[in-house]
Amino acid sequence: MPAQIIDGKALAQQIRAEVSVRAGALAAAGRRPGLAVILVGDDPASAVYVRNKVKACADHGIHSVLEKYDAALGEAALLERIAALNADPSIHGILVQMPVPRHIDPHRVIEAIDARKDVDGFSVRSAGELMSGLPGLRPATPWGCMKMIESTGVPLRGRHAVVIGRSNTVGKPMALLLLQADATVTVCHSRTADLKRHVQSADIVVAAAGRRRTVTADMVRPGTIVIDVGTNHDEAGKLCGDVDFAAVREALGPAGWISPVPGGVGPMTITMLLVNTLQAAEAAR
Ligand code: NAP
Repeated sequence: MPAQIIDGKALAQQIRAEVSVRAGALAAAGRRPGLAVILVGDDPASAVYVRNKVKACADHGIHSVLEKYDAALGEAALLERIAALNADPSIHGILVQMPVPRHIDPHRVIEAIDARKDVDGFSVRSAGELMSGLPGLRPATPWGCMKMIESTGVPLRGRHAVVIGRSNTVGKPMALLLLQADATVTVCHSRTADLKRHVQSADIVVAAAGRRRTVTADMVRPGTIVIDVGTNHDEAGKLCGDVDFAAVREALGPAGWISPVPGGVGPMTITMLLVNTLQAAEAAR
């Protein structure tokens, strides 16, 4: 029997229904939550991400503003726009879609966003809050993964979690969130010797390498929870994750859990962005 599916789409719908209710309550109190999304340049993938975020806001009672700029926009002009949005009381979250063009320093851009409006959770302050276990805005993707793991009902305390990837936006915050939930965490990366040995000893695997077939059936043991963050394309151009889904699902057996791509982490990422915007709006006075 194959592993059970962690349905990111269904879980996202459930959380989004709560978002709509909370957004409605804020709007009724005259504090409709607002998100500003800034897109610089014409990267087609970024344009799709931004469109999906704006649509999700509209669908769940969050006011959104989309600001699109030519790739030639200067860094100073972008920082000026961010300063204006920082001061705008109708905007509770600000998101600059990454990557920005090369002549713009992404760190300077992220740090220019008011920490209370940093709904991506990428700023040094937000990272520090997560690291220190303080309340704050958590990066949407790893936070969504945590919700997916929690949805299995399997307690994390004392379990061994293996995170594949150490980026600032996914791997590292993921490891910190798992640590906070009392898991014992191993972080693997491209220089890890013998990835298979680590994955084989895991109760939970979060794959965020951005490389197809990073996790194959021979690497997992029955009963493991596998969350696939990767977004790649197969030979036919079809979207796929980092995990060899069908074979790994079989190898995990009925006590295991696995998230698909598409329909797994993707819908949860946007959902947690909505939750962050709501949280920022609720905290604003
Ligand atoms: P990233 O910045 O490229 O980081 C990838 C990480 O994986 C790096 O730490 C890298 O190690 C590690 N890695 C690469 N190849 C590996 C291998 N063979 N074995 C072990 N580790 C390996 O990517 P990211 O931004 O974290 O994103 C990771 C993936 O998740 C991408 O496919 C991205 O598209 C996807 N993603 C999806 C969502 C979503 O909403 N669905 C959101 C965010 C990201 P080094 O540090 O040594 O280079």
